[in-house]
Amino acid sequence: MIAAGFLAPAAVYALVSALHLVVPARRVDGYVIDPRTSRPHRYRLNGLLVFTLTLAIWAGACASGLLAWDFFWTTRWEGLAGACSIGVAFTLAIVLGAPPTGKSLAADLYLGRRANPQWLGGHVDAKMWLYLVGATMLEINVCSFAMHQRLAFPDEPSPGAALYVALFSFFLCDYLFFERVHLYTYDFFAERVGFKLGWGCLVFYPYFYGVGLWSVADRPDPHASTPVLVASAVAFFAGWSLARGANMQKYTFKRDPRAKFLGVLAPEVVTDGERSLLVSGFWRVSRHVNYLGELLMATGLTLSLGRPGALTAWLYPLYYVALLVPRQRDDDRRCAAKYGSLWTEYVARVPYRIVPGLY
Ligand code: NDP
Repeated sequence: MIAAGFLAPAAVYALVSALHLVVPARRVDGYVIDPRTSRPHRYRLNGLLVFTLTLAIWAGACASGLLAWDFFWTTRWEGLAGACSIGVAFTLAIVLGAPPTGKSLAADLYLGRRANPQWLGGHVDAKMWLYLVGATMLEINVCSFAMHQRLAFPDEPSPGAALYVALFSFFLCDYLFFERVHLYTYDFFAERVGFKLGWGCLVFYPYFYGVGLWSVADRPDPHASTPVLVASAVAFFAGWSLARGANMQKYTFKRDPRAKFLGVLAPEVVTDGERSLLVSGFWRVSRHVNYLGELLMATGLTLSLGRPGALTAWLYPLYYVALLVPRQRDDDRRCAAKYGSLWTEYVARVPYRIVPGLY
């Protein structure tokens, strides 16, 4: 059981990788320019289909008795150790196999050396692969943890745990459905592939994001009231509207600066004649209203468990604060350097960083 638990993430990652290679995929241009060709990087995208097929194979294995429904719960620590080993091996291979950046070895190991590695002649993009395996493993973990709660307390299954799984599944499917939009995000144009992204996606994402359910799945139904469950879903979907809306509006704008968002909202911009920044719609509310959306989604997920006193479950929203506040500062610094006085004008028009009226 210990060995099987340790090897389980490797099996899931191998299955996802095999499916990613063979399942039909869309080929799209990304936002990042390949310096060797001066053309946008090309990507093969089939994340949602691979995710669904892997889930179906997992559910089929459980339904046929090959695997316990709560296998990934009972072996969660071994699974975490196995994923850690994969994350470390991946980091060493991807970093040490590339020429140094001129920074220290520690910085190279943490931040990576290569910006957008692709394998098999562009068939597999490292970043898209990492996000896909991480998302799929996370979904299996969360489903398996919820199944443990159900099996352990057959007379008291927790509606909160079921809601948590539903919201998390929505969160992951939404990401994969809009995979293409995420090619336009910070990770793609500003980050390299090292421990932060590699270990982050192979270990932290699948094993930490579900920390809420991890910390309460061995407890009975807390009997959260319906208004609490409804409020948590409302917080989650309010956050989703902000994050998805802002990302889609920027995506629409970057692809065609004159296009109306959702066919109705004409872009309003500040411009220096060459470059433009949006100051309408979601981008008028704050400079990173999408981060506020992520924070609300995380809060809704935590509340949905119906145990607001379970402190470990709050690690998830707290993690977003720790991730997104420095990221917003880095991004603002990067944009100030890139856009110069245009950025100053933009900051004067949109003064709040994340939370309007507060920060
Ligand atoms: P943004 O999508 O906000 O992208 C920032 C970039 O957008 C800037 O560097 C700049 O790039 C451009 N930009 C900024 N302001 C404007 C403007 N007003 N008009 C036009 N372009 C602008 O941030 P991220 O890439 O960090 O995040 C993308 C999404 O991913 C967010 O929803 C975020 O919350 C989410 N996310 C989710 C995480 C998770 O674990 N769930 C983790 C991290 C992020 P340029 O130089 O190209 O103009």
